[in-house]
Amino acid sequence: MKKLALHWKILLGMVLGVILGFVMTYFDGGKDIIQDWIKPFGNIFINSLKLIAVPLILASLIKGVSDLKDISKLSKMGGRTIGIYILTTVIAVSIGLVIVNLVQPGKSISEETRIQLVSSYESEAGSKIAAAEKQKEAGPLQALEDLVPSNIFNAASDNGNMLQVIFFAIFFGIGLILIPEEKSKPVKDFFDGFNEVILKLIDIIMLAAPYGVFALLAALVVESPSTDLFKALGWYAFCVILGLLLMMAIYGALVYVFTKKTPKFFFNGIAPAQLLAFSTSSSAATLPVTMERVEEHLGVDEEVTSFVLPIGATINMDGTSLYQAVAAVFIAQAFGLDLSFSVQLGIIVTATLASIGSAAVPGAGMVMLVIVLAQAGIPEAGLALIFAIDRPLDMCRTTVNVTGDAAVSMIVAKSVGKLGEPKVKNWDDNL
Ligand code: ASP
Repeated sequence: MKKLALHWKILLGMVLGVILGFVMTYFDGGKDIIQDWIKPFGNIFINSLKLIAVPLILASLIKGVSDLKDISKLSKMGGRTIGIYILTTVIAVSIGLVIVNLVQPGKSISEETRIQLVSSYESEAGSKIAAAEKQKEAGPLQALEDLVPSNIFNAASDNGNMLQVIFFAIFFGIGLILIPEEKSKPVKDFFDGFNEVILKLIDIIMLAAPYGVFALLAALVVESPSTDLFKALGWYAFCVILGLLLMMAIYGALVYVFTKKTPKFFFNGIAPAQLLAFSTSSSAATLPVTMERVEEHLGVDEEVTSFVLPIGATINMDGTSLYQAVAAVFIAQAFGLDLSFSVQLGIIVTATLASIGSAAVPGAGMVMLVIVLAQAGIPEAGLALIFAIDRPLDMCRTTVNVTGDAAVSMIVAKSVGKLGEPKVKNWDDNL
């Protein structure tokens, strides 16, 4: 049989998973069979990816920063990275706002459907609102305070503390730059080797990717709510997806303008990470694969990927911010509220910040949406309106989040002279 490229195998796994899920919903007990016998393999796959995330960030970031040799390079790259991340996020929110104002999906929701949706998803929405309450109580500098862990082992023991681990790794890397070379060399060599091991583990995990996504999608299909409610939300979903597609096109264009690499090259290189982002709905779980693809298939130097991508996975969520803008205005429209221009400008700011604050896990963007709603004076109970369709949209926005990180890493790499040719070296890709 002709050898298929990895992204085709993953795609095949996804399609077969969806088909199996649909078939099993027609059998009595089919859902239980999937949940008991198929879903665990999906969970094992996601867990193994998450397992790699913290050691990967530690090893690659310490190695990456210490390779920089001097700190001014770090601040130059850091400044550019954060600047471009914020810029793309603002573009994404603005696109979302323009589309939702033009299409006005909320106006087409009938009173009856609105009441039905709100009552079906009241309790689920309630738990998201409660989660957001905690965030809201925090002071303005809380995010900054949270950046510095008081104990690295505590920080590293929770995948939700990725930014703290990043902080420690950068700090440690700076320390390595500042000590004499004969002392730093053994430590660097250790992290070099450690990093290689982790990369090899990612290769091994990726061999299971087609089966993992098969299990994940089969489980998702049997667990998804009835499709009737989906239809009422069709225009809303259309706005989000249209915005996300536009964002993808913008990434292709930005990469072409700044690096002269074609969109085909870019999307071919990043495809397996996109498919994984779609299947797992988690930028954090996808991070190991994003790093591998960007480095080996897009030719970005490890110095750049190790810095730009872990930070991007946690703070750069263009898809999420776009979705938050569309969802906020959609809910307002459905409740018959007219949002003034200044309130919409406020949404640009809050959605940008909320997407930075969203954790890179499934459903996180919806929790932070509560804050955007509160800020704009839109009823938070409106969250129940969009619940039914949130998971599929989460899959799509996570794909954009990951693609955005990859595009920015190419642009940053080009700007610091660290964009080379792809160096595919692993056996997983050649199987
Ligand atoms: N699932 C998204 C991510 O991991 C975050 C979100 O929008 O819910 O990137």
